[in-house]
Amino acid sequence: MADDVLGFVGLGQMGSRMAARLLDAGHALVVFDPVEAAVAPLVARGARRAASAAEVADLSDTVLASLPTPEVVRMVGLGPDGVLSGQRARRFVDFSTTGPRVAQQVAAAFLAQGRTSIDAPVSGGITGAEKGSLAIMVSGPREEFERLEPVLRVMGKPFFCGEKPGQAQVLKLCNNLLAAAALAISSEAIVMGVKAGLDPSLMCEVINSSSGRNSATQDKFPRAIIPRSFDFGFTTALSHKDVRLCVEEAEAMGIPMVVGSAVRQMLAVTSASFGPESDFTSIVKVVEQWAGVEVGGA
Ligand code: NAD
Repeated sequence: MADDVLGFVGLGQMGSRMAARLLDAGHALVVFDPVEAAVAPLVARGARRAASAAEVADLSDTVLASLPTPEVVRMVGLGPDGVLSGQRARRFVDFSTTGPRVAQQVAAAFLAQGRTSIDAPVSGGITGAEKGSLAIMVSGPREEFERLEPVLRVMGKPFFCGEKPGQAQVLKLCNNLLAAAALAISSEAIVMGVKAGLDPSLMCEVINSSSGRNSATQDKFPRAIIPRSFDFGFTTALSHKDVRLCVEEAEAMGIPMVVGSAVRQMLAVTSASFGPESDFTSIVKVVEQWAGVEVGGA
């Protein structure tokens, strides 16, 4: 595995940073993304350019991917110009958040050809991708996980979640539901405090020393909301996709998600008001508009 040529498909916010770390660690890397501006910086750092996902799979042993939606993962994995039509790669490792169903479908198609597909969704955002401190949740054959572990360690901390395809995806959806719920409910709480005349930084400081602390009050408010930079690095579209996938998957399993459905609606409103490409911390602006106050700033 150490001498394997690696491929990387999908060089966006996350993929570009993960691929850069692999190059810095000395791995031979073949890359593809339809957006030229995403490819050029990695080629300048020594990666080899491919013209399609299939060509990446022709030129590498293991293809890694970080893609936006389940539909794109299905196309990149199984489509006409996809990884499965490449001749050389034996292994497909998907870091995207896509839900368990597409992971199961892709794994079954790879297995039918005597190859392996592993779902390995990540958490930790662009900072984690840059610093190599992502939590990497992996499901698939354990011996494949063990072979892959040194490569994964370049990008973060791998956790083996189970042999069944899609198990890591379920865990990732649970995590992102919690992160979005914390952001939505903290937005309601902090906006209420600001309308009552409280300082939002003081509110976060007190909450973070109290029982209400969470990833929004500890990180998103101080870093991207109170300074009004709204640059946490995760789009409303992606968060909405994750929560939608989570609620739909739970429903299919016979688990109604009442709170999860409300969080999904808050993300839909944020997307309609500020656009799908807005940073998902924009969720606070929805509550601000209703309340007629603004959190933080000068
Ligand atoms: P992004 O939109 O920045 O990147 C996606 C990349 O995929 C883009 O460069 C795009 O050009 C490329 N792409 C689209 N269609 C393609 C195709 N057919 N073939 C090849 N490449 C294609 O998204 P991102 O923020 O990097 O997120 C990627 C995945 O990681 C998503 O599933 C997301 O949910 C997950 N994720 C993101 C974060 C985050 O903080 N941004 C954190 C954890 C997980």
